[in-house]
This record gives sequence, structure tokens and C-alpha cells, in this order.
Amino acid sequence: MAYTQSLLTAARKIEVRHAEMPDGIASDHIRLRLATASICGTDMHYFRHFANAGFVLDYPVTLGHEACAYVEDPNGCGFEKGQLVAINPLIPCGECEKCRAGDINMCPTKRFPGSATTKPHIDGFFRDIFDFPARCCHGVSDAVAPDHLTFAEPLACALHSVNRAGVTANDSVLITGCGPMGLLATVGAVAKGATVHVTDLRAPAIEAARAVGASDGFIAARNDMNNLKEVYDIVIEASGSPHGYNQALDAVRKQGTISVLSLIQPSEVPINLHLNALKEVTSVGSILFTGEFADAVALIESGTVDFEAITAARFPVSETQAACEMMADGHAVGKVLIKPQ
Ligand SMILES: [Zn+2]
Ligand SMILES: [Zn+2]
Repeated sequence: MAYTQSLLTAARKIEVRHAEMPDGIASDHIRLRLATASICGTDMHYFRHFANAGFVLDYPVTLGHEACAYVEDPNGCGFEKGQLVAINPLIPCGECEKCRAGDINMCPTKRFPGSATTKPHIDGFFRDIFDFPARCCHGVSDAVAPDHLTFAEPLACALHSVNRAGVTANDSVLITGCGPMGLLATVGAVAKGATVHVTDLRAPAIEAARAVGASDGFIAARNDMNNLKEVYDIVIEASGSPHGYNQALDAVRKQGTISVLSLIQPSEVPINLHLNALKEVTSVGSILFTGEFADAVALIESGTVDFEAITAARFPVSETQAACEMMADGHAVGKVLIKPQ
């Protein structure tokens, strides 16, 4: 079976190849035909640097861990051919202490596609056909649009951050940064009933946040946040910038909570940690998700979220390079989607 595959071969270089799937499918795996994939901030780090957070790729890899797909060959695993499935890309061992406690994101031997942290690397989803463990695939109602279902994994990450912060209906929440993760954190916090404000450097990104339920937004020119001191119960940092974290330390109320959703890359920018102490701020980190994948799929199935408002563009697999360039230039508002050839 021939298929089209995009492959990151070096920083900023994606090659498109035509390859053949092997005849056999590994046991407990099913063969899938891409419906829609989407580009993550993590993919952008690999695209720019061939590395993410200090983890360097050993060899070329297909990026992409956010996708939904149609079952091409159920391989005796209980699915119907042609059925649409959400794909949970996190493959936990299922047996260690963390997995048994439900903390699958902390599993020391978990595997993840399109990532340098998994060795040997597993190719990701920016290709037409791929095999994946059946236990990671979740059937959904036929009424769900694939271009919405591809948001399941990033929405699960955002919901995990919202849960780590303990957001409730009574909370006022500030989200710093309206990239895709900030927009999805807005979706998650609004779903909890919280009052959500956002910041970003770009007015159209703030408009997108309003479209998914933010009630106010501010242009975060680096020094004009002075009127946002000690205002919010909870701040979710989604900008990926150390400046965003300092803004969060300013904006959170005394004894409030900061939830760090973005993966701020190692840097030399000073953090105003004295505010952490003086205000008794609780700061929680957040990586991937635990039980939130099912919650994300349910929220998508509910049809209550305007995912079109947070979708920037669509590209076929063969134009993955152009899709990544669009994300890299920083002007796209919302997600860039990858569609089959
Ligand atoms: Zn992602
Ligand atoms: Zn485990």
C-alpha cells in the first residue's frame, strides 16, 4: 500500500516521500488513514531546531502527534473499517507505579510519536497511512468533524493545565498568550464556568479568544501590564515566554495560582521569584494529560466549541513544509491543519 509521508530531515527542511506500508500489521495495532492532523508548538520546536527542550532528534522523523483517522484495517482489534477514531498519542507502559496511579504523563517509559524523547523515535502523523496501537484509538460519533476532532490531544493538554490550577466556576482567570494552547486553555476554563481574560501581542489572536468565550483581552506590550497587578485568582501561562511568566507573577492575586502550560525553553531571562514568595503564589506545572483525553473528546462531541474560529489554515501532507513555515512566522491565529493528500 503506497502512501505519502513528510519527513523532517534537518532544521527547517521537510522532505515529502512516497513509501510503501509493510504488508503485515503488528499485533494489537490497527492501520489508519489520516483524516486530519494539526501542528503543535512541540512540532515547531523540532522544525526550527531539530530538537525540543534540549532533546535532539537522532535521525529524520515524521512530525505530528495530533490527529484523527479512519480505520483502514482493524486487524482483528474490534474496530469497523472506515470508522473515525480519535488518536491518543501517549503510549504509556500501563504497568509502572505512575501508570497504575493514573499519572500516565509521568510514566518513565511512555512512548510518543514524532518526539526525540522516545528512542527509537516513532514516526508521527503527518502522512497518509500509519499503524498505531489499537488501545490508543477511540471511536467517536460519525457526526464529529475530523477538523474538530484533531483538537482532542492539545485540548486534553489544556484541560490538564486547567485542572492542575483547580479552575472552578467562581474563578477569575487570566491566560497569557493566545497561541493555540492559550486559545484551548480559554475553551477549557470557559467550560468550567470561569471568567476568562487573555493577553497577546496580536489583536486578531485576542479576537479569536473572544470567539471561544474570553470576556476581555489585553495587548501585552511588554511593559503596559501595570494595571493588571494582583487581579486574578488563577493565571495560566501559555505564551512560552519568560516575560509571560513574569506577567503572571504580577497579575495573580495574593495566594493565587499560576499554572504553567507552555514549555518555556531554557533561557537567561530573570524570573521575579520574589513575587512568588511575597504573594505566596502556588505555581503548578503541567505536561500532557492524564484522564483529560476522554473529556476533550466529549467536549468536541458536544458541538459547543467554535473550532473554526481557532483554525488558521489547511495544507495537504505534501505541503507540510509550507504549513510549518506559516506557523513559524508567528502570524497564524489558531491551528494549522494537515489534510490527506
Ligand atoms: Zn500537541
Ligand atoms: Zn508506566
